[in-house]
Amino acid sequence: MTGDAGVKRILIVTASRSCTDRSLFLGALATYRVIRPGACLYIGDGTGGDSLARHEWSRLCGYGDKVSRATAAGWLRVFNADWLGPCRPDCEPGHRLPRPGGGTYCPAAGPFRSPAICDDAAATGLPVGIIAVRKENAGNKGTRDCLKRARSTLAPVIEDFIDILEAWQLPGRG
Ligand SMILES: [Zn+2]
Repeated sequence: MTGDAGVKRILIVTASRSCTDRSLFLGALATYRVIRPGACLYIGDGTGGDSLARHEWSRLCGYGDKVSRATAAGWLRVFNADWLGPCRPDCEPGHRLPRPGGGTYCPAAGPFRSPAICDDAAATGLPVGIIAVRKENAGNKGTRDCLKRARSTLAPVIEDFIDILEAWQLPGRG
C-alpha cells in the first residue's frame, strides 16, 4: 500500500523497454500531476520507459533522482520482476532459460509483474489513471499485456486512459 495519507489516486505507467524520449515522459507526467493531483505512481522495475518514468516522477515530486526517497514518501511504488526466483504454479513446465554466467531464469517473471501492479492498485480502492507509452514499430508485448490486464481488473475505477506512441527519432532531430 501507499505510505502517504495524501495519496488520492493511483497512476499506472506501462512503457516499452525501447522508449528513450525523456521529454515525452516528463511532459506526460507533469501534465498528469497538474490535472490529477495526489497520485502515487505504480511502475515496474524495467529499463527504458519504466526507468524514465520512475526518474521523471521522482523529479516532479521534488526528490531529484532519488527514486528511493519518492518511494519512501509514498508517491512512488516500484514493482520488481523476480527473474531468478522460483516459477509460479501456472508457468509452463521446463520453460526456464539459461542465464549468461550460469543458472536459469523464469521468462514469465516480467509478465507476472503486470497482474501484481493491477491487483495492488485495485486493492487500494482508489481511482486509477493509466498511461501507456509504446514504441512505434516495436512489439510492445509487455505493454500490451499490462493494458489487457488493467482493462479487465480495473475497468470500474479507471478515470483516465492515455495512450502514447513514441515515434522513432529521425537522425539529426536531436
Ligand atoms: Zn516460470
